[in-house]
Amino acid sequence: MLETKLISQLQKIVGKEAVLTAKEDLTAYSYDGTTTWAHMPDVVVLPTTAEQVSQILKLANENRIPVTPRGAGTNLSGGSIPIKGGIVLCTAKMNKILDINKTNLTAIVEPGVVLQDFNIALAKQGLFYPPDPQSFLGCTLGGTVAENAGGPYCVKYGVTKQYLLGLEVVLADGYIMKLGGVTVKNRTGYELIMLFTGSEGTLGVITRITLRLLPMPPASKTMMAVFEDMAVSGQAVSDILASGVVPAKIEFVDNFVIRRIEEKTPMGLPIDANALLLLQTDGSSAAVEADAQQILDILKKSGAKEARMAKDADEAAVFWKMRSAGFAAVFGAAHTVMAEDVAVPRDRLAEFIRRLGEISKKTGFFIQFLGHAGDGNLHPAIFTDMRNKEEFARAQETMGEIFRAAMELGGVLSGEHGIGLEKQRFLKDAMDPVALDIMKKIKAILDPNNILNPGKIWEQEGA
Ligand SMILES: Cc1cc2nc3c(=O)[nH]c(=O)nc-3n(C[C@H](O)[C@H](O)[C@H](O)COP(=O)(O)OP(=O)(O)OC[C@H]3O[C@@H](n4cnc5c(N)ncnc54)[C@H](O)[C@@H]3O)c2cc1C
Repeated sequence: MLETKLISQLQKIVGKEAVLTAKEDLTAYSYDGTTTWAHMPDVVVLPTTAEQVSQILKLANENRIPVTPRGAGTNLSGGSIPIKGGIVLCTAKMNKILDINKTNLTAIVEPGVVLQDFNIALAKQGLFYPPDPQSFLGCTLGGTVAENAGGPYCVKYGVTKQYLLGLEVVLADGYIMKLGGVTVKNRTGYELIMLFTGSEGTLGVITRITLRLLPMPPASKTMMAVFEDMAVSGQAVSDILASGVVPAKIEFVDNFVIRRIEEKTPMGLPIDANALLLLQTDGSSAAVEADAQQILDILKKSGAKEARMAKDADEAAVFWKMRSAGFAAVFGAAHTVMAEDVAVPRDRLAEFIRRLGEISKKTGFFIQFLGHAGDGNLHPAIFTDMRNKEEFARAQETMGEIFRAAMELGGVLSGEHGIGLEKQRFLKDAMDPVALDIMKKIKAILDPNNILNPGKIWEQEGA
């Protein structure tokens, strides 16, 4: 519990209505997209300006109160869980698109802008911002920077970090720091923007973001391929990428997701398919047609049972709706869903899928997975019930084995969801110890009192 005096100081900064202390309000900010973590904050504040964020952090720093930044709370690593209590600083009211510059191909936004709202505003001007996490209906741009989020378009266009030109960040002591600008090139000093990108709210609160934009591609083609063997679909992905053609998207869904979606919202999906690849090309009309044809030929040669273009824009929309509903289909499937995130080199995808099969056979856990196949980024999920301690421990051990398998193949512990609370016990095996130590030193310089999202990323000493 925070002292009444501190609550009234917060009310003075942001106004009474923007300070939440009722139990039902606090509960709404106690969890995120994971099903394994929850912790109540003492108070939630909803600032509207960087100046207010600065005053909140000054107050928190002087009184050593933990502050957990939060956008929409859709992350899948425990990142926005206020595990040490204190203040949740939610950016939902900092949701203005401040500028869209069609000639410079840039935009300036506040951190609480929802990705879908941004995309709609850009589409009206024929503009395009590629990073497309499949939580786009809710996630905020601040959250996507703090997680360095990716999505289907990232095969061709890259992840969030590739679009960042400038940031305004409020540091733990309340200083409002400006980084970068509105130029696409900038070689002035260290790349500090990258330091805050993917920092999961542990180094500062992002209050303004300058983004690089692209013109909307004039045409696109969607394709769908059915596979009997999941590993064969993984090999097909490697074959496409090695062929010289550059697809905009290559996504993977397994039979479990296809069936769950058909059960809940029938879309006419091939429920007997063991695996589906969804692919898209984009660019000029002539190029998308030729690229799509080349991809279909490779898919057939690589062992697809069926590979075809979407009949029309409506069918293409159904396919992509199915993909974006993938996680929702998975999350309702059990009391506890350990939905994870690893990335492997794209030429080891088939091998990794085979390893998942072996781990499943050995441990007895069904391993569901979907993901951004074109990036070698898969989301294996295990269904369990954390109330059953013995089973939950075995599920955790199985997930550990999956992480180890990915790393043995030259992969990484997280492709896009971050470390948060979920994976910190694996971090020391996934990083050079000196690099881990440098990270801790950077944290100590920027946040010496450890008020910003404490308890995240690495295991805390004495915890
Ligand atoms: C259905 C579903 C699909 C998803 N698909 C994808 C996907 O395809 N690709 C992908 O990468 N992720 C995906 N995610 C994960 C998640 O949506 C992303 O990580 C997203 O970037 C989180 O944004 P958010 O606004 O919800 O942030 P939150 O969950 O609120 O916060 C995420 C982290 O960022 C920090 N943070 C938030 N705002 C700020 C700020 N202004 N300043 C500093 N730190 C801040 C928080 O402290 C926390 O550590 C998915 C999640 C769901 C539920």
